[in-house]
Amino acid sequence: MQQPRWTRWIVSALLCASSAGCAGLAASAPVVPVTEWPTVDPLVDLATDRRLILRPAYASDQNFVGEVLYPVPRVLMRQSAFDALCRVQDRLDALDLRLVVWDAYRPHHVQRRMWELVPDPDFVANPARGSRHNRGMAVDVTLARLDGTELTMPTAYDAFTPRARANTPIQEDDVRANRDLLIATMASQGFTVLRTEWWHFDAAGWQDAAVLDVALEEFGR
Ligand SMILES: [Zn+2]
Repeated sequence: MQQPRWTRWIVSALLCASSAGCAGLAASAPVVPVTEWPTVDPLVDLATDRRLILRPAYASDQNFVGEVLYPVPRVLMRQSAFDALCRVQDRLDALDLRLVVWDAYRPHHVQRRMWELVPDPDFVANPARGSRHNRGMAVDVTLARLDGTELTMPTAYDAFTPRARANTPIQEDDVRANRDLLIATMASQGFTVLRTEWWHFDAAGWQDAAVLDVALEEFGR
């Protein structure tokens, strides 16, 4: 039976809070977000590589809060992480596959909005510490065929269940192969998968990147 959206999200938040995941905490002291655009390892628009398929979940209401959190469907990452992601796509080109990106840089004020919606530390991380996505070094991705059809993975993007764990046994050979291909190809370019979320990856050096609070809609102005 399909679980109610709220119930599914509570499970999600618990996993993220315990694993420092998508909405979770970075393992560090409380941070003061940087409110100026970084000049070292700057944010860049993933749309500049037209091979990447951008489907930002938070730019619509089709996400765990059912609310539009990003005012523009813009997907940004730090230059170093973007370069690594393009090298992943280089490898996928040989397999006639493309990366689909659901989320990357998330402004810190969006993290605060998540906290406003569910201000319970048992279920959502306190934005005082920021999340990995706030640093511009994290990305949520899956694989698709050249026509954009997403490959079958163990779960949907927001279906946080034990089956979403990156190393959980998967009986279906094709599904397991799809997941493991994504993880291996991302790892080949320095990305580390989050153990509780097969779709979440952190670029090498993410711990050293500052938490940012610059608005997606201000990019390029
Ligand atoms: Zn994530």
